[in-house]
Amino acid sequence: MYKKENLNELLEKVYYKKINLNEKNVLLRSCLNVSTDDDGDIVDDTRLIESLSMIKELAVESKMLIIVAHLGRPDGEKKKYSFRRIAERLNSELEGLSRNGKKIEIVLLKSPKAVAMYEDDGETHKVILLENIRFNHGEDSESESERMQFARSLADLADVFINDAFADYRKSASTYEIAEYLPSYLGSTFYKEIKALAVFEEPKRPFIAVLGGAKLSEKLDSLNELLEVADKVLVGGAMAYTLLKAQGGFVGDSLVEDDKLDIAVEMVYKHGYKLVLPEDHLIVENFEEPAIGRYAYTTDSLIPPGKIAVDIGPKTIELYKSIIKTAKSILANGPMGVFEWDVTSTGTKGILKSIVDNTDAFKLVGGGDSIASINKFDIKGFNYVSTGGGAMLAFLSYEEFPTLDVILDKINK
Ligand code: AMP
Repeated sequence: MYKKENLNELLEKVYYKKINLNEKNVLLRSCLNVSTDDDGDIVDDTRLIESLSMIKELAVESKMLIIVAHLGRPDGEKKKYSFRRIAERLNSELEGLSRNGKKIEIVLLKSPKAVAMYEDDGETHKVILLENIRFNHGEDSESESERMQFARSLADLADVFINDAFADYRKSASTYEIAEYLPSYLGSTFYKEIKALAVFEEPKRPFIAVLGGAKLSEKLDSLNELLEVADKVLVGGAMAYTLLKAQGGFVGDSLVEDDKLDIAVEMVYKHGYKLVLPEDHLIVENFEEPAIGRYAYTTDSLIPPGKIAVDIGPKTIELYKSIIKTAKSILANGPMGVFEWDVTSTGTKGILKSIVDNTDAFKLVGGGDSIASINKFDIKGFNYVSTGGGAMLAFLSYEEFPTLDVILDKINK
């Protein structure tokens, strides 16, 4: 879990509302990491929608706004990763907004150099959107000095830096090094995420974590930490089968990460009393969407040879629900089964539903698949929905969060 003395006090000091934006050139690091198809058309805009309120506010309030963000993991300047469509979308979202009587217009520019050389025709109020920051080698260069140099070129464009990209938590020139060069603040999305997650520093108990998804390997650190801090951790999804196998269970042909079995055995023995695993399963013969009658439920936790578990069974759903009911704080991340198929979405849907039914608890859900499922099943009632799944787990798993620390630590210098 992230640790910082006087966190709430420090957060207030770096909240962007502290700045008088009117006279400032602002460099805003947004999260615009939408999903795109090969032509670069946007197929899922959740992240963009989340970032809009800050973009709109700063577009109107600041003297000049430069928006910086990344998209995907481009290897070269491919169409799929271009901000062309994002620029169009932002332009239509900002329609009707103006500053000093001038209509606000987005201009897409290629590099910090292009921004520095840009000559405004003065007819509209320009908001600059920098093309996918990962098209620049310096952004994620392994050489610290190259990252610093690139961060410097970004910092030279503005008076203040506002980081609103909680989800982009890895150290890059535009999320980390830049804060060394400019007075730096947190945007509202970043700030709200931290405020919500900080509740888990001293959670009301019982604190129940519900963790699911495909790969145990990707969530090992988080699971370990949650087993330390939560009262119970309910596990579902494919990651449960590596743990069940580690317990000596029979998992048939379910997805198991054999190279993680040693660690899983340690976990199971150390935290057995806190770790709750599925007691029955929905099983299929082939990993494909099961037609009617082409699936079955086990009566206990044993999965027969040749069968694959793709969802938790009714007994497990009831067990997990009964534990969730007792909770005062609940954190959920990842699906309980293959939620993309109707038949195997019952576990994920049922568990999410039972979480929001607990009206006494503070309830936080996060991660791409969890958001996809709450949207799909139209489940409402969480206190906070975090779009940054990886970032959320990192915040809960480690004592440091570099993109936040670099801003907070400056206050004390
Ligand atoms: P993750 O990206 O690790 O959160 O995993 C999410 C994916 O795990 C989803 O696409 C689910 O369909 C998949 N998943 C969940 N449960 C299972 C399971 N029992 N077997 C195979 N895949 C699963």
